[in-house]
Amino acid sequence: MPEKVPDCLFCKIVTGEVPATVVRATERTLAFRDINPQAPTHVLVIPKEHYANAAELASAADALVSEVLLEAHAVAVDDGIAEAGYRLVFNTGPNAGQTVDHMHCHVIGGRQMHWPPG
Ligand code: AMP
Ligand code: ZN
Repeated sequence: MPEKVPDCLFCKIVTGEVPATVVRATERTLAFRDINPQAPTHVLVIPKEHYANAAELASAADALVSEVLLEAHAVAVDDGIAEAGYRLVFNTGPNAGQTVDHMHCHVIGGRQMHWPPG
């Protein structure tokens, strides 16, 4: 199991060192509201263990990928947006705008969204 990374913001949210509005938790995942929401629902689902991005998580702990996705859908159900539709985003690397190197799945919805993204 990977170590907690001392300077990682999301590891600190897992330990409670940094507060967050937690909406769901399982033994291995945590879901909390984004501090700078881009839509009425904007929640981040993370593995409690530190992985830098989605590919790293998938290669190290593939079952946990499914758990993150199931929790992302559960967030949408909880917020009443599952039927209307929602978007899952895994920013990976600088060109995608990844700012926190602890894998997270953005669950975004509650308004009409457009494709392609900017
Ligand atoms: P990304 O740009 O994909 O790395 O997404 C990182 C996300 O983390 C951004 O949408 C931020 O608004 C969000 N964020 C940063 N700090 C916090 C925090 N303390 N609590 C909740 N969300 C945060
Ligand atoms: Zn971390």
